[in-house]
Amino acid sequence: MPRDPRYDILFEPVRIGPVTAKNRFYQVPHCTGLGWLRPRTLASLRGMKAEGGWGVVCTEYCSIHPTSDDLPHPYASLWSEADVKAHALMTDAVHAHGALAGVELWYGGARTANLYTWQVSMDVASIPNMAGNPFQTRAMDKADIRAYRTWHREAAKRARQAGFDIVYVYATHEYLLSRFLSPEFNTRGDEYGGSLENRIRLVREVIEDTKEAVGGDCAVAVRFSADERVGEDGAPVHDERRDMLALLAELPDLWDINIADYSYEMGVSRFVKEGSLEPYMDYVKSMTSKPVVTVGRFTSPDTMLSQVKRGIVDFVGAARPSIADPFLPRKIDEGRPEDIRECIGCNICYVGDGKGTPLRCTQNPTIGEEWRRGWHPERIAPKGSEAKVLIVGAGPAGLEAARALGQRGYSVVLAEAGRELGGRVTAESRLPGLSEWARVRDYRLQQIERAVNVEIYRESELGVDDVLAVEADHVAIATGATWRRDGLGRFNIGGIAELGPEDRIFTPDDIMAGRLPEGRVLVFDDDHYYMGAVVAERLRAEGRAVTLVTPENKAAAWSAFTSEQARTQKRLLEIGVEIVTAHGLSAFDGEQAALVCAYTGRTRRLPTESVVLVTARQPNDGLYHALSERMAASVNGGPRSLRRIGDCDAPAIIAAAVYAGHHYARELDAPDPAETAFRHEPAST
Ligand code: ADP
Ligand code: SF4
Repeated sequence: MPRDPRYDILFEPVRIGPVTAKNRFYQVPHCTGLGWLRPRTLASLRGMKAEGGWGVVCTEYCSIHPTSDDLPHPYASLWSEADVKAHALMTDAVHAHGALAGVELWYGGARTANLYTWQVSMDVASIPNMAGNPFQTRAMDKADIRAYRTWHREAAKRARQAGFDIVYVYATHEYLLSRFLSPEFNTRGDEYGGSLENRIRLVREVIEDTKEAVGGDCAVAVRFSADERVGEDGAPVHDERRDMLALLAELPDLWDINIADYSYEMGVSRFVKEGSLEPYMDYVKSMTSKPVVTVGRFTSPDTMLSQVKRGIVDFVGAARPSIADPFLPRKIDEGRPEDIRECIGCNICYVGDGKGTPLRCTQNPTIGEEWRRGWHPERIAPKGSEAKVLIVGAGPAGLEAARALGQRGYSVVLAEAGRELGGRVTAESRLPGLSEWARVRDYRLQQIERAVNVEIYRESELGVDDVLAVEADHVAIATGATWRRDGLGRFNIGGIAELGPEDRIFTPDDIMAGRLPEGRVLVFDDDHYYMGAVVAERLRAEGRAVTLVTPENKAAAWSAFTSEQARTQKRLLEIGVEIVTAHGLSAFDGEQAALVCAYTGRTRRLPTESVVLVTARQPNDGLYHALSERMAASVNGGPRSLRRIGDCDAPAIIAAAVYAGHHYARELDAPDPAETAFRHEPAST
């Protein structure tokens, strides 16, 4: 299909100083959990974005010196000549598809404790480590500032040598340069502190240094915050920012704009919608003639078009949408925007950074697997046989398996007990703020419905005989999991003995099915991700008095990794949910709950009329086991293979179910699955 001419403007080339981007699709720097630890994995990932049509593809934050070390959070580095080769892998992969490669040179300051390099961290003043480590920085003296400028210059030269086209000066996200800009942190009495002119001095010098270092071969971009500090959502506090921008406006070749509140800038879809940064940065383009890029979890070509046409941005910046669909630009270009795998705003891709592991994505199971397994997000090997495959259950695992097997050309039967498809994502997308999660279903369904070789049977709850009657060669059981009613979980590993009466006990499955408790409700969250909190929110919306009890010290503690914990706790407090931390539920009799202190073991009583247990899930693996037994007992006939995938195998996050479905589809009839087994990067370098 030809491109819709309305979108032509998105495909115009744009000059960035000495270089030209082939279009307006700009993958801004984003972390991957790869960095210098896994250069091949990284190069393949970035190269895939270029293949998918992004005109600019950037690295993650790239340290210029060992005194800026963020491990266990993986970052890139350009500390010496030895690092150049690793980056050249990436720039080659990006250039191979006609895209520009950008590098985000970075110096952490008080955000880094240098736990790997064990060097003293330096910043504008002697301040505590801002990541909570019991370290403090050295206040940079003039010699330190000179050294820092030298390191930045040297790193910029190495960046040019590695083949980068755009070199960043990183002046935001609470890293070193942003603290020099800050009137609060910058308490210096020298020419780098005090007046606005003095506070921007170092940024100005570093921009000039970088330009000189790259000698006109590379563009110099500045990452800069459009607002001064965190305020109410959607109501920017600009303070001096306009003045700063005015003073620096024409110095760099490109402005990459973000905002002070990171949890809003890359907010989860529960709290932040597409294009939400516009009110913060709508003035920027009026201050500079240089091209401007920002993010906004743009997945709709119309929103992108509108931002460009109205002069808000020159480039459509993206991190998450380019992870969920590296081929987003190509799909618009080829006149098939309906094929875009839209980001759902869950921030699972951010978890790897916090955990020190490679990124994963709920929507795109191939991300990070481009090199290790050779997975391409759009292409897949054709079928290895004429086999017929039955998939039981149309949740994220079953849908993805059916989609990918259908793409391979297999004859696929997908049977779903319910009338609706989507399993848990359909149910969960009706909970407060989670509507975008339905995109996990919608993308797959839309692809499957077009495939003539995939048959869908709704309202078809299959038993053992039904499965065998299909006469499939391969059967995958993707029947999901059910929230437990017995309280078994991390806190009560054997379940809760005194629990009743039955009609006062609820689980998230009840809430999602519309079976709601009456009166005062206690939500026992021993899961620690989003479910306890959204259930509490749902019940508050019905006017129930709700207490959320968690053995952790914060509500929804694990959601810190998806950058939504603080917002979750704020939301719960604001809507009047009482939060009891560091306590587990040990008994409930219909009138009172017994809560046990996680530290002392002391018990206290809390009057409540019902309890919602958000503790653990029970795999729905009965069909799998019954089939296994039948197959073991029968001498001939029956499917050649039987597998369980997704939550029915091991309950986990949605991303894991999608991955399981994809993995199953990739490996069916593969010549030797061992060949695609785990490839460990250092071992093969
Ligand atoms: P996952 O996350 O692993 O994909 P879900 O719980 O989201 O799992 O989805 C499981 C799906 O399987 C649900 O839609 C459920 O209705 C369906 N299902 C469960 N048992 C059967 C069965 N025996 N026959 C057909 N569908 C089933
Ligand atoms: Fe979007 Fe979630 Fe994928 Fe991140 S993990 S890119 S937020 S769908």
